[in-house]
Amino acid sequence: MSRPLTDQEKRKQISIRGIVGVENVAELKKGFNRHLHFTLVKDRNVATTRDYYFALAHTVRDHLVGRWIRTQQYYYEKDPKRVYYLSLEFYMGRTLQNTMINLGLQNACDEAIYQLGLDIEELEDIEEDAGLGNGGLGRLAACFLDSMATLGLAAYGYGIRYEYGIFNQKIRDGWQVEEADDWLRHGNPWEKARPEYMLPVHFYGRVEHTKSGLKWVDTQVVLALPYDTPVPGYMNNTVNTMRLWSARAPNDFNLRDFNVGDYIQAVLDRNVAENISRVLYPNDNFFEGKELRLKQEYFVVAATLQDIIRRFKASKFGSTESVRTMFDSFPDQVAIQLNDTHPALAIPELMRVFVDIEKLPWTKAWDITKQTFAYTNHTVLPEALERWPVDLVEKLLPRHLQIIYEINQRHLDKVRALFPNDLDRLRRMSLIEEGGVKRINMAHLCIIGSHAVNGVAKIHSDIVKNQVFKDFADLEPEKFQNKTNGITPRRWLLLCNPGLAELIAEKIGEDYVKDLSQLTKLHKFVNDDIFIREISKVKQENKVKFAQFLEKEYNVKINPSSMFDVHVKRIHEYKRQLMNCLHIITMYNRIKRDPMKPFVPRTVIIGGKAAPGYHMAKMIIRLITAVGHVVNNDPVVGNKLKVIFLENYRVSLAEKVIPATDLSEQISTAGTEASGTGNMKFMLNGALTIGTMDGANVEMAEEAGEENLFIFGMRIQDVEELDKKGYNAQEYYEKLPELKQAIDLIKSGFFSPKQPDLFNEVTNMLFHHDRFKVFADYEAYVKCQDTVSQLYMNAKEWTKLVIRNIAASGKFSSDRTIKEYARDIWNVEPSDIKIPPPNEPRDVADKNPNCTTQKLKM
Ligand SMILES: *Cc1c(COP(=O)(O)O)cnc(C)c1O
Repeated sequence: MSRPLTDQEKRKQISIRGIVGVENVAELKKGFNRHLHFTLVKDRNVATTRDYYFALAHTVRDHLVGRWIRTQQYYYEKDPKRVYYLSLEFYMGRTLQNTMINLGLQNACDEAIYQLGLDIEELEDIEEDAGLGNGGLGRLAACFLDSMATLGLAAYGYGIRYEYGIFNQKIRDGWQVEEADDWLRHGNPWEKARPEYMLPVHFYGRVEHTKSGLKWVDTQVVLALPYDTPVPGYMNNTVNTMRLWSARAPNDFNLRDFNVGDYIQAVLDRNVAENISRVLYPNDNFFEGKELRLKQEYFVVAATLQDIIRRFKASKFGSTESVRTMFDSFPDQVAIQLNDTHPALAIPELMRVFVDIEKLPWTKAWDITKQTFAYTNHTVLPEALERWPVDLVEKLLPRHLQIIYEINQRHLDKVRALFPNDLDRLRRMSLIEEGGVKRINMAHLCIIGSHAVNGVAKIHSDIVKNQVFKDFADLEPEKFQNKTNGITPRRWLLLCNPGLAELIAEKIGEDYVKDLSQLTKLHKFVNDDIFIREISKVKQENKVKFAQFLEKEYNVKINPSSMFDVHVKRIHEYKRQLMNCLHIITMYNRIKRDPMKPFVPRTVIIGGKAAPGYHMAKMIIRLITAVGHVVNNDPVVGNKLKVIFLENYRVSLAEKVIPATDLSEQISTAGTEASGTGNMKFMLNGALTIGTMDGANVEMAEEAGEENLFIFGMRIQDVEELDKKGYNAQEYYEKLPELKQAIDLIKSGFFSPKQPDLFNEVTNMLFHHDRFKVFADYEAYVKCQDTVSQLYMNAKEWTKLVIRNIAASGKFSSDRTIKEYARDIWNVEPSDIKIPPPNEPRDVADKNPNCTTQKLKM
């Protein structure tokens, strides 16, 4: 061939993205034209790119519908144990391409859209991200949904349909500016409102003593309207449901009791109720005790539990037996996973339903509740742990507060019996923290209300068990587990890096997509010169493509032959973007000191959102953009060093930058990053890691061999020793000339000439109250970066390490993670049964005459 392939042609060559088939393509074109006409009400003369996106989205959606209905019928008929993943965040990103891949339609769609004279990548880029998450925790929930569907589990994601997701980040004069994420403005073709399943949620009110027990009365009601989004498994005809609740005011809101006579005001006040699902709180790893957030947490929990109990009662387990024994089988039929403590109120809420409404005895209700719930801890940073003021909970949920007190009393009785005369232990283990404002410790509630508690990487689970919640492990050691996080290889390889996915398939076949451990088969190609060249060619093409994207979207030029050194994640002091920034300044000083000395060219790309209320994180962004401005415009530096702050980092941007990365920065202070999942995405996509022994980095090094990563800096024990000794930043500053030079340059106002003291609060923090000890790891980090540059000069040796890393990344599939949850926590089996595709007869239902008239039960 004389000319290079276009992206579209490259995509069409890739067989793992489905068979092209002439009928298939013709069918898709027909569907597309039909939707353009009937759904979008446009013809090709007036249609916009967005219209074409919607026409394609609806065409692809049509292929989901039959499988979705069939899957839910199948669950209704077979009644397998249901798994409910409760989360305040589902960071889904885009849906179109993921759906085409999981349905095996990508190639046929590429061809159809090509024949229609359109560019499918341009259409895909129109789609808004579903940004209903902040970072790792929300993205984990999204990866888990993909894996649960791919493994054929009867699973549901339950959350909130935020009208506004994570804000859009703009950089203006170097500062972060937030814009509202009005992601639903153009409509969402992937969701289906289900008003027939709307449910009431109660707030405020008081507790009344009646003959038949306690009653929660005089409440304000908000309605929860469910929106269902299909979650297709990879090539197995399974389509699960993510059900997100939207808040609606009842039609008599404020009319019955209060604003009699002020109809207009009553209608306007409906906003107050509907604000509950208005906006995602933009905090990552930080607890902000706002009343509206507490309302969100109870809203999702109350609606979801009603739904779960309704579905249980409609099953053969819930309907036939007597009311007194009916719920005995509840934990055999229902597993509820709590994604952090955010949905912790599910525990007292289920107790309230069992005790107050279903009239179960307390001990029986508590036993069933414990057997039903499991809790995942995501952080040990104290500022992130939820501790709700008792007064606030009493006002909003008076009955739940009583229940929490009762749970606590019985819990402390147990502790007292096992550890007599240990008052301090009782104080430490109480659900209620005394002193100052009384608060409820939600992690304590989750631990005692669950049968399983897990951390998200080995090192983190050890800290959870042996340090942060040691008292609880003394009480019930068997509860504590580890479930190392993972990522879905469908989105994070097939979708985002088709060139690499195909190259791997050529070498080891296609089965690795569902069994990522098969990547170890790549080990035998580590010394294969052709494979080495092919791997580095794919990386180079991805880098060129990303460079073109940056030039087109942001008008910045970068050199695709420089090393792409990428640090993308939420901006947080513990993630130490500041340490990266000090390395950039150090490289700059070295170039200026000796401009003729050889230098391995680098493009440092840093991206991530700062919580709008996190002042220091915003100053860190400002410092990075200021340093970038100086470095990028210094003629002495030229092409050797460029610094890019990547605006508005989000799922769809991660999909672009990760496949183009050479070096992945994972440099948190040891003991602070619970797992990380960004680290895994980079490893799978052929980037090398520079990182500390923290989170899942430890297991990445274990899998690949420590010699194949760039591991540096303090281990947890070193951090602990330094804490005992007392961390003194000044010592490092005086001892390390390059550190001193970098800090002095910031302090001199060199990067902020119009306001020389702009970054004083940053440098003061680093000297006087740096909880994350940047200076203590600076020297090891810079030395390690020098090793990185050395190796990068040797392209072949570099790529050998890349291959070893890809080959060792199989453990980090979320399929593996979910199999472990299924086996060790949920007690369910992955199913190999392929639900019949919509155009084939249903063997299950057709034999059972009762089922043929069965209405769809969601
Ligand atoms: C994976 C991912 C994260 C988590 O990254 P970490 O490096 O683990 O913090 C955050 N944001 C987005 C958009 C992601 O895709």
